Amino acid sequence: MEEKTVRMEDIISLAKRRGFVFQASEIYGGLAGFWDYGPLGVELVNKLKAEWWKAVVTESDNIFGVDGAIIQNPKLWEASGHVAGFTDPMVEDVVTHKRYRADHLAGTDSTDLGELKELLKGKKSPDGNDLSEPRYFNMMMQTWVGAVQDDSAVAYLRPETAGSIFTNYENVRETMRAKLPFGIAQIGKAFRNEISPRDFIFRVRELEQMEIQYFIRPQSQDAAYEQWREFAWDFLTTRLGIAPENLKWHEHEENERAHYAAAAHDIYFKFPQGFKELWGTHNRTDFDLSSHQKTSGKDLSYFDDAAKERFIPYVIESSVGVGRMLLAVLADAYREEEINGDKRVVLKLKPELAPYRFAVSPLLKNKPELVEKARGVYLMLKKQYGNVTWDDNGNIGKRYRRQDEIGTPNCVVIDFQTLEDDTVTVRDRDSTEQKRVAIKNISA
Ligand code: ATP
Repeated sequence: MEEKTVRMEDIISLAKRRGFVFQASEIYGGLAGFWDYGPLGVELVNKLKAEWWKAVVTESDNIFGVDGAIIQNPKLWEASGHVAGFTDPMVEDVVTHKRYRADHLAGTDSTDLGELKELLKGKKSPDGNDLSEPRYFNMMMQTWVGAVQDDSAVAYLRPETAGSIFTNYENVRETMRAKLPFGIAQIGKAFRNEISPRDFIFRVRELEQMEIQYFIRPQSQDAAYEQWREFAWDFLTTRLGIAPENLKWHEHEENERAHYAAAAHDIYFKFPQGFKELWGTHNRTDFDLSSHQKTSGKDLSYFDDAAKERFIPYVIESSVGVGRMLLAVLADAYREEEINGDKRVVLKLKPELAPYRFAVSPLLKNKPELVEKARGVYLMLKKQYGNVTWDDNGNIGKRYRRQDEIGTPNCVVIDFQTLEDDTVTVRDRDSTEQKRVAIKNISA
Protein backbone atom coordinates (compact mmCIF):
# COMPACT_ATOMS: atom_id res chain seq x y z
CA MET A 1 0.00 0.00 0.00
CA GLU A 2 1.24 3.48 -0.86
CA GLU A 3 0.33 6.74 0.78
CA LYS A 4 1.12 10.38 -0.02
CA THR A 5 0.56 13.66 1.76
CA VAL A 6 -2.88 15.11 1.29
CA ARG A 7 -3.19 18.18 -0.96
CA MET A 8 -5.93 20.79 -0.65
CA GLU A 9 -6.95 20.36 -4.30
CA ASP A 10 -7.55 16.65 -3.68
CA ILE A 11 -9.83 17.41 -0.73
CA ILE A 12 -11.69 20.12 -2.67
CA SER A 13 -12.13 17.83 -5.63
CA LEU A 14 -13.41 14.94 -3.50
CA ALA A 15 -15.72 17.28 -1.57
CA LYS A 16 -17.27 18.52 -4.81
CA ARG A 17 -17.31 15.18 -6.65
CA ARG A 18 -19.03 13.35 -3.82
CA GLY A 19 -21.41 16.02 -2.56
CA PHE A 20 -19.74 17.19 0.65
CA VAL A 21 -19.13 20.88 -0.11
CA PHE A 22 -20.19 23.12 -3.00
CA GLN A 23 -19.29 26.72 -3.73
CA ALA A 24 -22.16 28.97 -2.59
CA SER A 25 -24.15 30.33 -5.56
CA GLU A 26 -21.79 28.46 -7.87
CA ILE A 27 -23.90 29.01 -11.00
CA TYR A 28 -23.31 32.77 -10.54
CA GLY A 29 -19.58 32.39 -10.10
CA GLY A 30 -19.69 31.93 -6.32
CA LEU A 31 -18.96 34.48 -3.62
CA ALA A 32 -15.59 34.53 -1.88
CA GLY A 33 -15.75 33.13 1.64
CA PHE A 34 -19.13 31.38 1.36
CA TRP A 35 -19.73 27.65 0.92
CA ASP A 36 -22.71 25.29 0.93
CA TYR A 37 -22.76 21.78 2.36
CA GLY A 38 -24.09 19.09 0.05
CA PRO A 39 -25.97 15.92 1.04
CA LEU A 40 -22.96 14.10 2.50
CA GLY A 41 -21.40 17.24 3.98
CA VAL A 42 -24.51 18.06 5.95
CA GLU A 43 -24.63 14.48 7.29
CA LEU A 44 -21.04 14.67 8.48
CA VAL A 45 -21.43 18.16 9.90
CA ASN A 46 -24.58 17.12 11.79
CA LYS A 47 -22.67 14.21 13.28
CA LEU A 48 -19.82 16.45 14.40
CA LYS A 49 -22.25 18.86 16.02
CA ALA A 50 -24.25 16.04 17.66
CA GLU A 51 -21.08 14.48 19.05
CA TRP A 52 -19.94 17.81 20.48
CA TRP A 53 -23.36 18.56 21.97
CA LYS A 54 -23.50 15.11 23.52
CA ALA A 55 -20.04 15.48 25.06
CA VAL A 56 -20.64 19.03 26.25
CA VAL A 57 -24.31 19.29 27.22
CA THR A 58 -26.04 15.90 27.33
CA GLU A 59 -23.36 14.03 29.24
CA SER A 60 -22.67 16.89 31.61
CA ASP A 61 -24.67 18.00 34.61
CA ASN A 62 -23.54 21.61 34.78
CA ILE A 63 -23.46 22.81 31.16
CA PHE A 64 -26.63 24.21 29.63
CA GLY A 65 -27.38 24.91 25.99
CA VAL A 66 -28.75 28.08 24.43
CA ASP A 67 -29.52 29.15 20.88
CA GLY A 68 -29.28 32.91 20.64
CA ALA A 69 -30.31 35.29 17.86
CA ILE A 70 -27.74 36.18 15.22
CA ILE A 71 -28.62 39.86 15.50
CA GLN A 72 -28.52 41.38 18.96
CA ASN A 73 -28.71 44.87 20.38
CA PRO A 74 -25.54 46.58 19.02
CA LYS A 75 -24.65 47.68 22.56
CA LEU A 76 -23.65 44.06 23.17
CA TRP A 77 -20.81 44.42 20.63
CA GLU A 78 -19.76 47.76 22.09
CA ALA A 79 -19.46 46.20 25.54
CA SER A 80 -17.65 43.14 24.20
CA GLY A 81 -15.05 45.36 22.54
CA HIS A 82 -15.86 44.20 19.01
CA VAL A 83 -17.01 47.58 17.67
CA ALA A 84 -13.71 49.14 18.67
CA GLY A 85 -11.34 46.21 18.46
CA PHE A 86 -12.50 43.29 16.31
CA THR A 87 -9.92 44.09 13.70
CA ASP A 88 -7.27 42.47 11.61
CA PRO A 89 -4.29 44.37 10.24
CA MET A 90 -4.65 45.01 6.54
CA VAL A 91 -2.48 46.29 3.68
CA GLU A 92 -3.62 47.24 0.22
CA ASP A 93 -1.88 46.76 -3.13
CA VAL A 94 -1.66 50.40 -4.32
CA VAL A 95 -2.27 49.41 -7.95
CA THR A 96 -4.85 46.61 -7.88
CA HIS A 97 -6.43 47.70 -4.56
CA LYS A 98 -6.54 44.06 -3.52
CA ARG A 99 -6.41 43.75 0.25
CA TYR A 100 -4.29 41.36 2.25
CA ARG A 101 -3.80 40.39 5.89
CA ALA A 102 -0.66 42.33 6.87
CA ASP A 103 0.40 39.68 9.41
CA HIS A 104 0.09 36.91 6.82
CA LEU A 105 2.19 38.81 4.24
CA ALA A 106 4.76 39.60 6.92
CA GLY A 107 4.84 35.95 8.03
CA THR A 108 4.20 36.73 11.70
CA ASP A 109 1.60 36.05 14.39
CA SER A 110 1.93 39.64 15.64
CA THR A 111 -0.85 42.12 14.90
CA ASP A 112 1.05 45.15 16.18
CA LEU A 113 1.00 47.88 13.50
CA GLY A 114 4.50 49.20 14.38
CA GLU A 115 6.05 45.73 14.15
CA LEU A 116 4.19 44.98 10.94
CA LYS A 117 5.33 48.24 9.35
CA GLU A 118 8.95 47.29 10.06
CA LEU A 119 8.54 43.73 8.80
CA LEU A 120 6.79 44.84 5.60
CA LYS A 121 9.40 47.46 4.65
CA GLY A 122 10.42 46.89 1.03
CA LYS A 123 7.91 44.02 0.59
CA LYS A 124 5.70 43.87 -2.49
CA SER A 125 2.18 42.52 -2.91
CA PRO A 126 1.71 39.04 -4.43
CA ASP A 127 1.16 40.90 -7.76
CA GLY A 128 4.53 42.64 -7.41
CA ASN A 129 3.24 46.15 -6.56
CA ASP A 130 3.90 48.51 -3.64
CA LEU A 131 1.84 48.12 -0.50
CA SER A 132 0.00 50.73 1.58
CA GLU A 133 0.86 51.18 5.26
CA PRO A 134 -0.80 48.58 7.48
CA ARG A 135 -4.02 49.67 9.20
CA TYR A 136 -6.77 47.99 11.15
CA PHE A 137 -9.92 46.79 9.44
CA ASN A 138 -13.10 45.95 11.42
CA MET A 139 -14.44 42.55 10.44
CA MET A 140 -17.99 42.82 11.74
CA MET A 141 -20.69 42.60 9.09
CA GLN A 142 -23.30 45.32 9.29
CA THR A 143 -26.93 45.53 8.41
CA TRP A 144 -29.90 47.76 9.28
CA VAL A 145 -32.84 46.71 11.40
CA GLY A 146 -36.24 48.21 10.59
CA ALA A 147 -37.47 50.36 7.77
CA VAL A 148 -35.06 53.28 8.18
CA GLN A 149 -31.52 52.84 6.96
CA ASP A 150 -29.61 55.39 9.00
CA ASP A 151 -26.90 55.17 11.66
CA SER A 152 -29.44 54.65 14.43
CA ALA A 153 -30.62 51.42 12.76
CA VAL A 154 -27.17 49.84 12.28
CA ALA A 155 -26.86 46.34 13.69
CA TYR A 156 -24.24 43.62 13.32
CA LEU A 157 -24.33 39.98 12.36
CA ARG A 158 -22.68 38.35 15.36
CA PRO A 159 -18.94 37.79 14.93
CA GLU A 160 -18.95 35.02 17.56
CA THR A 161 -21.58 33.05 19.41
CA ALA A 162 -20.16 33.99 22.81
CA GLY A 163 -22.05 37.33 22.94
CA SER A 164 -25.52 35.98 23.63
CA ILE A 165 -24.06 33.50 26.11
CA PHE A 166 -22.83 36.38 28.24
CA THR A 167 -26.07 38.34 27.96
CA ASN A 168 -27.99 35.20 29.01
CA TYR A 169 -25.64 34.39 31.89
CA GLU A 170 -28.08 35.61 34.53
CA ASN A 171 -31.14 34.10 32.81
CA VAL A 172 -29.52 30.67 32.68
CA ARG A 173 -28.12 30.88 36.21
CA GLU A 174 -31.54 31.75 37.58
CA THR A 175 -33.73 29.42 35.54
CA MET A 176 -31.42 26.42 35.93
CA ARG A 177 -30.64 27.25 39.60
CA ALA A 178 -26.99 26.91 38.59
CA LYS A 179 -24.09 27.25 41.00
CA LEU A 180 -20.48 27.90 40.01
CA PRO A 181 -18.82 26.29 38.24
CA PHE A 182 -21.29 25.96 35.37
CA GLY A 183 -21.17 26.48 31.66
CA ILE A 184 -23.31 27.65 28.77
CA ALA A 185 -22.87 26.11 25.32
CA GLN A 186 -24.03 27.20 21.92
CA ILE A 187 -23.73 26.05 18.32
CA GLY A 188 -24.49 28.65 15.70
CA LYS A 189 -23.55 30.79 12.76
CA ALA A 190 -21.18 33.74 13.05
CA PHE A 191 -20.03 36.21 10.42
CA ARG A 192 -16.65 37.81 9.84
CA ASN A 193 -15.78 40.04 6.93
CA GLU A 194 -12.40 38.33 6.53
CA ILE A 195 -9.96 40.39 4.46
CA SER A 196 -8.81 37.42 2.44
CA PRO A 197 -10.98 34.32 2.79
CA ARG A 198 -9.04 31.32 1.58
CA ASP A 199 -7.97 27.72 1.91
CA PHE A 200 -11.39 26.32 1.01
CA ILE A 201 -13.59 26.14 4.13
CA PHE A 202 -10.70 27.00 6.49
CA ARG A 203 -11.17 30.79 6.44
CA VAL A 204 -14.68 31.82 5.50
CA ARG A 205 -16.95 34.80 6.01
CA GLU A 206 -19.97 32.84 7.22
CA LEU A 207 -18.91 30.24 9.73
CA GLU A 208 -20.46 28.10 12.40
CA GLN A 209 -19.01 27.90 15.88
CA MET A 210 -19.35 25.56 18.81
CA GLU A 211 -18.57 27.49 21.97
CA ILE A 212 -18.64 26.94 25.71
CA GLN A 213 -18.28 29.67 28.27
CA TYR A 214 -17.47 28.08 31.60
CA PHE A 215 -18.17 30.36 34.58
CA ILE A 216 -15.89 29.83 37.56
CA ARG A 217 -14.51 31.30 40.76
CA PRO A 218 -11.38 33.33 39.96
CA GLN A 219 -9.22 31.05 42.09
CA SER A 220 -10.02 27.99 39.95
CA GLN A 221 -8.96 29.59 36.66
CA ASP A 222 -5.81 27.49 36.20
CA ALA A 223 -7.52 24.15 36.86
CA ALA A 224 -10.52 25.01 34.67
CA TYR A 225 -8.24 26.19 31.88
CA GLU A 226 -6.40 22.83 31.97
CA GLN A 227 -9.71 20.97 32.09
CA TRP A 228 -10.94 22.60 28.88
CA ARG A 229 -7.61 22.24 27.08
CA GLU A 230 -7.71 18.54 27.88
CA PHE A 231 -11.33 18.30 26.79
CA ALA A 232 -10.53 19.71 23.33
CA TRP A 233 -7.58 17.37 22.77
CA ASP A 234 -9.57 14.33 23.95
CA PHE A 235 -12.56 15.21 21.82
CA LEU A 236 -10.45 15.40 18.66
CA THR A 237 -8.40 12.29 19.28
CA THR A 238 -10.94 10.03 20.98
CA ARG A 239 -14.38 11.08 19.83
CA LEU A 240 -13.33 12.00 16.28
CA GLY A 241 -10.38 9.63 16.00
CA ILE A 242 -7.96 12.27 14.64
CA ALA A 243 -4.34 11.10 14.70
CA PRO A 244 -2.46 12.89 17.55
CA GLU A 245 0.55 13.43 15.26
CA ASN A 246 -1.66 15.73 13.16
CA LEU A 247 -2.27 17.98 16.19
CA LYS A 248 -0.09 20.26 18.27
CA TRP A 249 -0.43 23.01 20.87
CA HIS A 250 0.22 26.65 20.15
CA GLU A 251 0.36 29.13 23.00
CA HIS A 252 -0.51 32.73 22.09
CA GLU A 253 2.14 35.34 22.69
CA GLU A 254 0.91 38.55 24.24
CA ASN A 255 0.85 40.43 20.90
CA GLU A 256 -1.30 37.70 19.35
CA ARG A 257 -4.03 37.39 21.97
CA ALA A 258 -7.55 38.73 21.53
CA HIS A 259 -8.39 41.87 23.50
CA TYR A 260 -10.25 39.87 26.17
CA ALA A 261 -7.86 37.00 26.78
CA ALA A 262 -5.41 36.59 29.66
CA ALA A 263 -4.19 33.29 28.26
CA ALA A 264 -4.87 31.42 25.05
CA HIS A 265 -3.87 28.01 23.76
CA ASP A 266 -4.88 26.81 20.33
CA ILE A 267 -4.85 23.29 19.04
CA TYR A 268 -3.28 23.43 15.62
CA PHE A 269 -4.16 20.78 13.03
CA LYS A 270 -1.92 19.78 10.16
CA PHE A 271 -4.16 21.18 7.40
CA PRO A 272 -2.99 20.68 3.80
CA GLN A 273 -1.64 24.29 3.85
CA GLY A 274 0.30 23.61 7.10
CA PHE A 275 -0.29 23.51 10.85
CA LYS A 276 -3.04 26.09 11.61
CA GLU A 277 -5.54 26.94 14.34
CA LEU A 278 -8.45 24.56 14.77
CA TRP A 279 -9.66 25.02 18.36
CA GLY A 280 -9.04 27.78 20.89
CA THR A 281 -9.14 27.68 24.69
CA HIS A 282 -9.09 31.12 26.29
CA ASN A 283 -9.08 32.55 29.77
CA ARG A 284 -11.37 35.56 29.35
CA THR A 285 -11.17 36.45 33.07
CA ASP A 286 -14.07 38.65 34.25
CA PHE A 287 -13.66 40.88 31.18
CA ASP A 288 -17.02 40.09 29.56
CA LEU A 289 -19.36 40.00 32.55
CA SER A 290 -17.74 43.14 34.04
CA SER A 291 -18.04 44.96 30.78
CA HIS A 292 -21.68 43.93 30.23
CA GLN A 293 -22.48 44.87 33.81
CA LYS A 294 -20.97 48.30 33.26
CA THR A 295 -22.62 48.94 29.89
CA SER A 296 -26.07 47.51 30.73
CA GLY A 297 -26.23 48.70 34.33
CA LYS A 298 -27.49 45.22 35.35
CA ASP A 299 -25.89 43.43 38.29
CA LEU A 300 -24.07 40.35 36.97
CA SER A 301 -22.21 39.51 40.15
CA TYR A 302 -22.46 36.14 41.88
CA PHE A 303 -23.03 35.56 45.56
CA ASP A 304 -21.15 32.61 46.96
CA ASP A 305 -23.26 31.25 49.86
CA ALA A 306 -20.47 29.24 51.43
CA ALA A 307 -17.76 31.90 51.34
CA LYS A 308 -20.27 34.73 51.86
CA GLU A 309 -18.69 36.83 49.18
CA ARG A 310 -19.86 38.54 46.02
CA PHE A 311 -17.76 38.69 42.85
CA ILE A 312 -17.87 38.64 39.06
CA PRO A 313 -17.20 35.11 37.78
CA TYR A 314 -14.24 34.35 35.56
CA VAL A 315 -14.78 32.64 32.23
CA ILE A 316 -12.87 29.92 30.44
CA GLU A 317 -13.89 29.71 26.79
CA SER A 318 -13.62 26.73 24.48
CA SER A 319 -14.27 27.65 20.86
CA VAL A 320 -14.06 25.67 17.64
CA GLY A 321 -15.31 26.18 14.09
CA VAL A 322 -17.55 23.47 12.62
CA GLY A 323 -16.21 23.94 9.07
CA ARG A 324 -12.59 23.80 10.22
CA MET A 325 -13.42 20.65 12.15
CA LEU A 326 -14.97 19.14 9.02
CA LEU A 327 -11.88 20.04 6.97
CA ALA A 328 -9.62 18.52 9.64
CA VAL A 329 -11.67 15.32 9.76
CA LEU A 330 -11.60 15.01 5.95
CA ALA A 331 -7.86 15.73 5.70
CA ASP A 332 -7.07 13.33 8.55
CA ALA A 333 -9.11 10.53 6.97
CA TYR A 334 -8.05 11.04 3.32
CA ARG A 335 -5.76 8.39 1.82
CA GLU A 336 -4.65 7.49 -1.66
CA GLU A 337 -3.65 3.86 -1.78
CA GLU A 338 -2.56 1.26 -4.27
CA ILE A 339 -3.81 -2.25 -3.67
CA ASN A 340 -2.63 -4.98 -6.06
CA GLY A 341 -1.92 -2.40 -8.74
CA ASP A 342 -5.32 -0.71 -8.28
CA LYS A 343 -5.45 2.91 -7.12
CA ARG A 344 -8.12 4.04 -4.72
CA VAL A 345 -9.05 7.09 -2.67
CA VAL A 346 -10.44 6.17 0.71
CA LEU A 347 -11.79 8.20 3.61
CA LYS A 348 -10.79 6.31 6.73
CA LEU A 349 -13.39 8.02 8.87
CA LYS A 350 -14.29 6.71 12.28
CA PRO A 351 -17.26 4.42 11.39
CA GLU A 352 -19.66 6.38 13.64
CA LEU A 353 -18.91 9.56 11.68
CA ALA A 354 -19.27 8.14 8.16
CA PRO A 355 -22.22 9.69 6.28
CA TYR A 356 -23.45 6.13 5.59
CA ARG A 357 -22.82 3.20 7.93
CA PHE A 358 -23.61 0.61 5.21
CA ALA A 359 -24.05 0.50 1.44
CA VAL A 360 -26.31 -2.30 0.20
CA SER A 361 -26.11 -3.70 -3.36
CA PRO A 362 -27.63 -6.49 -5.38
CA LEU A 363 -24.79 -8.16 -7.34
CA LEU A 364 -26.72 -7.59 -10.59
CA LYS A 365 -29.37 -4.94 -10.92
CA ASN A 366 -31.24 -6.67 -13.74
CA LYS A 367 -32.07 -9.78 -11.68
CA PRO A 368 -35.36 -9.02 -9.92
CA GLU A 369 -34.92 -11.82 -7.36
CA LEU A 370 -31.56 -10.34 -6.25
CA VAL A 371 -32.93 -6.79 -6.20
CA GLU A 372 -35.93 -7.83 -4.11
CA LYS A 373 -33.78 -9.70 -1.60
CA ALA A 374 -31.31 -6.80 -1.43
CA ARG A 375 -34.14 -4.35 -0.90
CA GLY A 376 -35.23 -6.38 2.14
CA VAL A 377 -31.71 -6.25 3.64
CA TYR A 378 -31.49 -2.52 2.87
CA LEU A 379 -34.77 -1.77 4.64
CA MET A 380 -33.81 -3.93 7.60
CA LEU A 381 -30.47 -2.11 8.06
CA LYS A 382 -32.02 1.28 7.42
CA LYS A 383 -34.57 0.64 10.15
CA GLN A 384 -31.77 -0.23 12.56
CA TYR A 385 -29.08 2.30 11.59
CA GLY A 386 -30.85 5.01 9.59
CA ASN A 387 -27.89 6.12 7.56
CA VAL A 388 -27.70 3.32 5.01
CA THR A 389 -27.42 3.85 1.25
CA TRP A 390 -28.55 1.82 -1.76
CA ASP A 391 -25.98 1.49 -4.53
CA ASP A 392 -26.61 -0.54 -7.69
CA ASN A 393 -24.81 1.67 -10.17
CA GLY A 394 -21.96 0.21 -12.29
CA ASN A 395 -20.07 -2.96 -11.47
CA ILE A 396 -19.22 -4.03 -7.93
CA GLY A 397 -15.64 -2.72 -8.18
CA LYS A 398 -16.92 0.76 -9.09
CA ARG A 399 -19.41 0.69 -6.23
CA TYR A 400 -16.64 -0.20 -3.75
CA ARG A 401 -14.47 2.68 -5.03
CA ARG A 402 -17.37 5.10 -4.71
CA GLN A 403 -18.19 3.97 -1.17
CA ASP A 404 -14.47 4.07 -0.21
CA GLU A 405 -14.32 7.70 -1.31
CA ILE A 406 -17.17 8.69 1.00
CA GLY A 407 -15.91 6.57 3.87
CA THR A 408 -18.69 3.94 4.06
CA PRO A 409 -17.27 1.35 6.49
CA ASN A 410 -19.06 -1.70 5.05
CA CYS A 411 -20.60 -2.71 1.73
CA VAL A 412 -23.15 -5.51 1.81
CA VAL A 413 -23.65 -7.46 -1.43
CA ILE A 414 -26.57 -9.78 -2.11
CA ASP A 415 -25.71 -12.54 -4.64
CA PHE A 416 -27.12 -15.86 -5.83
CA GLN A 417 -25.87 -17.69 -2.75
CA THR A 418 -27.95 -15.30 -0.62
CA LEU A 419 -31.09 -16.70 -2.22
CA GLU A 420 -30.08 -20.18 -1.05
CA ASP A 421 -28.67 -19.67 2.44
CA ASP A 422 -29.48 -16.10 3.55
CA THR A 423 -25.82 -15.08 3.75
CA VAL A 424 -24.28 -11.98 2.16
CA THR A 425 -20.76 -10.68 1.58
CA VAL A 426 -19.72 -7.84 3.86
CA ARG A 427 -16.71 -5.95 2.59
CA ASP A 428 -14.53 -3.95 4.95
CA ARG A 429 -13.48 -0.48 3.77
CA ASP A 430 -10.03 -0.42 5.38
CA SER A 431 -8.77 -3.99 4.81
CA THR A 432 -10.91 -4.51 1.64
CA GLU A 433 -11.53 -8.05 2.98
CA GLN A 434 -14.85 -9.72 2.21
CA LYS A 435 -16.58 -12.05 4.62
CA ARG A 436 -19.63 -14.24 4.26
CA VAL A 437 -22.10 -13.31 6.99
CA ALA A 438 -25.66 -14.45 7.78
CA ILE A 439 -28.14 -11.61 7.18
CA LYS A 440 -29.31 -11.76 10.77
CA ASN A 441 -25.71 -11.30 11.98
CA ILE A 442 -24.86 -8.14 10.02
CA SER A 443 -23.90 -5.52 12.57
CA ALA A 444 -21.97 -2.29 12.86
P1 ATP B 1 -7.92 33.00 13.17
O1 ATP B 1 -6.72 33.42 13.97
O2 ATP B 1 -7.71 31.74 12.36
O3 ATP B 1 -8.58 34.11 12.41
P2 ATP B 1 -9.39 33.41 15.59
O4 ATP B 1 -8.28 33.25 16.57
O5 ATP B 1 -9.88 34.76 15.22
O6 ATP B 1 -9.03 32.57 14.26
P3 ATP B 1 -11.50 32.70 17.34
O7 ATP B 1 -12.09 34.04 17.35
O8 ATP B 1 -10.80 32.20 18.55
O9 ATP B 1 -10.58 32.51 16.05
O10 ATP B 1 -12.65 31.69 16.89
C1 ATP B 1 -12.75 30.39 17.41
C2 ATP B 1 -12.73 29.34 16.32
O11 ATP B 1 -13.65 29.69 15.27
C3 ATP B 1 -11.39 29.18 15.62
O12 ATP B 1 -10.54 28.35 16.36
C4 ATP B 1 -11.80 28.57 14.30
O13 ATP B 1 -11.98 27.16 14.43
C5 ATP B 1 -13.13 29.22 14.02
N1 ATP B 1 -12.98 30.35 13.10
C6 ATP B 1 -12.66 31.61 13.40
N2 ATP B 1 -12.63 32.39 12.29
C7 ATP B 1 -12.97 31.58 11.26
C8 ATP B 1 -13.14 31.79 9.86
N3 ATP B 1 -12.98 32.98 9.31
N4 ATP B 1 -13.48 30.73 9.10
C9 ATP B 1 -13.66 29.51 9.65
N5 ATP B 1 -13.53 29.26 10.96
C10 ATP B 1 -13.18 30.27 11.76
